[in-house]
Amino acid sequence: MAAASFSEIPALASAPRLTDSYGRTIHDLRVSITDRCNYKCVYCRTGELGAQYPELEISEYLRLIALFVSLGIAKVRLTGGEPLLRHGLLDLVRALARLRTIAGRPLDLALTTNGHLLDSLARPLKDAGLNRITVSMDAVDAPTFERITRVPGSSQAVLSGIRAARAAGLTPLKVNCVLLRGFNDDQIESFARFARDEDVVVRFIEFMPLEEGRLWSPEIVVPLREIVDRIQRVLPLVELPAREASETARRYGFADGRGEIGIIAPVTQAFCGACSRLRLTSDGKIRTCLFSQVEHDLYGRMRAGSSDDELRAYILRVIERKEARHHIGESGFLKPSRSMVHIGG
Ligand code: SF4
Repeated sequence: MAAASFSEIPALASAPRLTDSYGRTIHDLRVSITDRCNYKCVYCRTGELGAQYPELEISEYLRLIALFVSLGIAKVRLTGGEPLLRHGLLDLVRALARLRTIAGRPLDLALTTNGHLLDSLARPLKDAGLNRITVSMDAVDAPTFERITRVPGSSQAVLSGIRAARAAGLTPLKVNCVLLRGFNDDQIESFARFARDEDVVVRFIEFMPLEEGRLWSPEIVVPLREIVDRIQRVLPLVELPAREASETARRYGFADGRGEIGIIAPVTQAFCGACSRLRLTSDGKIRTCLFSQVEHDLYGRMRAGSSDDELRAYILRVIERKEARHHIGESGFLKPSRSMVHIGG
C-alpha cells in the first residue's frame, strides 16, 4: 500500500496516547535535521568536525513527524547540529505549520539555533509559520564568545540574529547558555543584565556529560543554587511558577518586574519524573532519552516499506521502553552513544 502523503495522515482520535511505562505522556518531539554545524564550540566539538550521520529528505522528515503528531505529539522543535544550515528548512516549517494536532490545533513549532544565520532568516521563518525560537549563546562579551565558538565575528552575528528574531515576532525569545566553571561562569551577572536589556529570557543550563571528549566532571558544573545566589546579589529575583509540569527550566523574575531568567538543572535538580520528550535524530532514529544507550531505527523501517500503521505501532512499542531517568554522577553512569551535536537539543 502506497504511503499516504503526510497531510493525508489522519489524526487517530482513538489512538492510544504516547504514554510510557511510568505514566508520562509524551507530547514534545525534538527533530534533528542535520548534525552539521558552523560552530566548533570548545566544550561540544572536541572530536571530528563535519557531518557524521546522514540526513533524510525533507519529505521523509515530514512523513515521520506527521506519524508522531497523529499519535499525540503537540510540540515539535527543530534542532541540529545547526538547523539553519539545512536546505529546505523553510519548506519544512511551512508544511509543519499546516499540520493539526489530534485536538485539531496547530502545532507549537519551535527551533533551536546558534543564531549565526538568523539575521536574514528570522522573518522568513516567522512568515513560514514558526512560533518560537531559542538561540544558544554562551557568553555576552565577544572575546569569550569567540574563544568558545572558535569562529571570529560570531558574537556580532548572533546579536544581530537575536534582534532580528525579536523584531520578527519570534517571541518569547529564549537564549540558552551552557555554563562551565572556568570557561564562562564569569558571564552570569552580565547575562542577567542582557536578559533585561535585550528583552529575552536567558536560561542557564547545567553542563551535562554529552560532549564528544572527556571534559565533564562534577566540579565543572555550576549548580542552580550558585547561579541564583550570584544573581540575587546584583539583581534580586523572585521564583515564578512553572507553566506546565514538564517545563525543564525553573523560572525567576527580577524583583522589579523587568525581565525573566530560567535555570535548567538536569544535574543537581533532575526533572526526569515529568519528562514529556522524545527525539528523532537526523538519520531517523528514535532516542527515548538524551542519555539512551540504544536507538530505534524508525527510518530504516520506513525505507523497508512499513506502512503508516506499522510505523505507528513501532513508535508505541518504543515509547513503552523509555528510560525512567538519567544517572549522571552515579557509579556505573555510561555516556550516551552519541554526543549532543549528533543528537540535537
Ligand atoms: S535525561 Fe532523559 S528522562 Fe531525563 S529529562 Fe532528559 S530526556 Fe527526559
